[in-house]
Amino acid sequence: MKNKIVIIGCGNVGMSYAYALINQKTSVKRLVLIDFDKKRLEGEVMDLNHGIPFAPSRVAIKQGDYTDCKDADIVCICAGANQEVGETRLDLLEKNSAIFKNIVESVVDSGFDGIFLIATNPVDVMTYVTYKYSKFSHNKVIGTGTTLDTARLRYLVGERLKLNAKNIHAYVLGEHGDSEFVAWSNAVVGTSKITKYIKKEEAESIALSVKNAAYEIIERKGSTHYAIGMVLVRITNAILNSEHTILTVSSYDSKNDIFIGKPSIVSRKGVVGFMPVSVNKEELNLYQKSVEIIKNEVNKIN
Ligand code: NAD
Repeated sequence: MKNKIVIIGCGNVGMSYAYALINQKTSVKRLVLIDFDKKRLEGEVMDLNHGIPFAPSRVAIKQGDYTDCKDADIVCICAGANQEVGETRLDLLEKNSAIFKNIVESVVDSGFDGIFLIATNPVDVMTYVTYKYSKFSHNKVIGTGTTLDTARLRYLVGERLKLNAKNIHAYVLGEHGDSEFVAWSNAVVGTSKITKYIKKEEAESIALSVKNAAYEIIERKGSTHYAIGMVLVRITNAILNSEHTILTVSSYDSKNDIFIGKPSIVSRKGVVGFMPVSVNKEELNLYQKSVEIIKNEVNKIN
């Protein structure tokens, strides 16, 4: 086991992932960065390497090419156009699916046999695109899904209840986008339902803040990247340490032939199982709405 990660697309998101990886104590030993802006990437690699004396563990970092994917455990794709002000994630679809064909086929040609981890938006559709182009088994293709949205929700609820966000067991499900929703009906803190402390109107306002977080941040600073970088590290740890952790990554829904954010069990072999989406009727309708939106986008590509 080499514990080697390759990141393709080293802009804001890719570099935030790389920076978070070397600053957290992970089992990653080798990190390879690929980007078509080779000069900037050279600078990024120099800059990261100069911090290694202060990192919690040694990581060998280098600029690479697709042949480096051959023996990687995880290839993470963060390449692509960014979400512009006022642009929805689905608007990015055409721009990003064009560049994915090239990238995914080059990775597969290297002999890569690990796990694809996708961050590029619209992430549910780009994960599907990767699955199709790679011809990998669906369990080995993972999108970040609503993991970031779930983190945003837990942060906001934790702040509101003045409790550690790690004690908030609540999930955002569905599309990583405008149709996502909070499964309040089974959101728990300690042994109590969160809806006991947060009433409907306030819950709706929190859910709206979660949904609009990306727009709000992009309006202020142009892109969101630190939190997604940490989300990618969280998923990486679940894979490398074979954790069997439940994360709302974008994983395969065989009934609808799409990838969508739902509670998935993440381990060394990728997604090794699912927890049922047990929600109330109203939430089930919202989930179905998300399914239809993603299906519609996937059909455009197909
Ligand atoms: P960015 O523009 O800063 O970086 C994109 C990088 O990809 C650039 O460095 C560019 O040179 C590179 N690139 C483009 N095409 C390439 C190719 N064919 N081969 C190699 N490199 C290539 O954008 P960003 O802010 O890092 O965002 C990247 C993606 O992540 C976007 O699609 C964004 O919407 C998405 N994102 C997803 C989440 C999530 O929750 N999944 C959160 C934030 C951003």
